[in-house]
Amino acid sequence: MINKPIWLKDLKLDKQKNKKYSDMEVDILIIGGGIAGVSTAFNLNNSKKSVCLIDKSYIGLGVTSCSTGKLTFLQSDMLYKIEKAHGFKMAKKYYEATKMAIDFVRNTVKEYNIDCDLETVPSYLYVTNESELSIFNKTMTFLSKVGEKYKVCDNINFPFNVKRCIEVPNTAIFNPVKYVRGLMNICTNVKFLENTLAIDIVKGDKGYIVKTSKNTIKAKKVIVTTHYPFFITPGLVPFKTHIERSYISAFKNNVYKNTSGINIKKPIFSIRSYKNEYVLYSSCSHKMSNHIDYENRYNELINDTKNKFQSDIDYIWMTHDITTNDILPLIGKVNSDSKDLLMATGFNKWGMTNGTISGMLLSDIVLNKKNKYEKLFSPSRGISITKITNFIIDSVNITKIYLGTKLVKNHSFYKSNVYVKYINDELCGVYIDSDNKKHIVKNLCPHMKCNLIFNNFDKTWDCPCHGSRFDIDGNILEGPSNYNIKIDNDK
Ligand SMILES: Cc1cc2nc3c(=O)[nH]c(=O)nc-3n(C[C@H](O)[C@H](O)[C@H](O)COP(=O)(O)OP(=O)(O)OC[C@H]3O[C@@H](n4cnc5c(N)ncnc54)[C@H](O)[C@@H]3O)c2cc1C
Repeated sequence: MINKPIWLKDLKLDKQKNKKYSDMEVDILIIGGGIAGVSTAFNLNNSKKSVCLIDKSYIGLGVTSCSTGKLTFLQSDMLYKIEKAHGFKMAKKYYEATKMAIDFVRNTVKEYNIDCDLETVPSYLYVTNESELSIFNKTMTFLSKVGEKYKVCDNINFPFNVKRCIEVPNTAIFNPVKYVRGLMNICTNVKFLENTLAIDIVKGDKGYIVKTSKNTIKAKKVIVTTHYPFFITPGLVPFKTHIERSYISAFKNNVYKNTSGINIKKPIFSIRSYKNEYVLYSSCSHKMSNHIDYENRYNELINDTKNKFQSDIDYIWMTHDITTNDILPLIGKVNSDSKDLLMATGFNKWGMTNGTISGMLLSDIVLNKKNKYEKLFSPSRGISITKITNFIIDSVNITKIYLGTKLVKNHSFYKSNVYVKYINDELCGVYIDSDNKKHIVKNLCPHMKCNLIFNNFDKTWDCPCHGSRFDIDGNILEGPSNYNIKIDNDK
């Protein structure tokens, strides 16, 4: 069993991590090369603007490389929830934008001949429990109202006790890493700097000055597509979102072919085939602040996969995505005062389509073109009841876990070779490896000062509040933190 996403299986990368870059000035700087950032770069490639995209790691290897790579508008209960929170008109717009994104990917793959294992498949939305029927029926009504053609089936061959099911044709599945790296290769007018971490961003006279780990970049406009923005203000993203973590297994299986499915309500059971050789299965998802026993959740997925599919797992990984309090993604100007600072985040686990939408919308905004979806996704849209209610629930959860990690210094789930203790008045995390070597790091996330939890399965220090992750030597693996937790060096 390999502890990494299946998409990284045969990936070959240029390993020149220490390339130096000189300072530069550009019209547009994109920070973050996942599907959102690279799609934006692609849409700006022929704009005659000078465009640079930086990524702290390799392009496409963030959360995008951990997704299940489905392109569908049957996104669990999303359409129902958007209609409930924002009304039919807004939900219809979201549905149309999603369909447009699927067409965009399909057409781009075809036009540029991108090798990303794209397959057109039907998508299934199923009910595994009687209590889900009401949302299921409302979703069907919605689809009928927008004129979508679908079939209802009561019997589908998935191992989830499916009670009812909707099938739609013409959705797709692909390899997200191959797609994003394929898009990058087409963008010959964009400068891509990999292994370049954005550390700080300040407003200058004519735009922004971004300090990176390799150079300083001045840009008239900056687009932040780092999955979770690394700044807290402006935008206040931590107060508009929460994080959901999920676990995925991939295993050899040729029973479930050319397929993509998900159930309508949590707990989620998601399935898709990959080249009719593997199946990817995701379950055990939870709000990140609700469970910090990552190893147990991995074990649950291993058992669940065995029970449902009678298969041994070849690849296993976990990942998280950002969920917005009012259900819609946050794509556009960070706020009305920062018109030259844009972001895309909060994809609610549907970033293959929402990241693609971000590419179209953000490029239109920076080029001053009209886009009919600008208002729908605007990060500074108004307050709604759903937003306030979810904000209160999420704040209680985060405060609980924040205080929990402060009060319980010696977490009981730590193994004998992992502990936290004060060293020179600083709370440290200590991991002793199989060669008896001690790896000591700060036990404090630089982002919002939450204490870190040791993830024994991945051997990482994880922030239970906003998802930053660090290796045993304190190097930053995943943001929003853009600082490491090394003892001797803050940056
Ligand atoms: C279990 C699971 C399954 C999913 N499956 C699907 C699916 O089937 N279909 C779907 O539509 N969506 C799916 N999603 C959602 C989707 O994977 C994400 O929404 C999407 O990948 C996010 O893309 P992104 O570009 O915003 O982020 P990322 O892919 O994480 O890209 C952000 C990039 O920014 C870089 N970065 C971060 N900080 C800095 C910094 N300070 N300086 C420079 N670079 C930085 C990172 O290295 C990274 O490469 C799934 C999510 C989960 C959790």
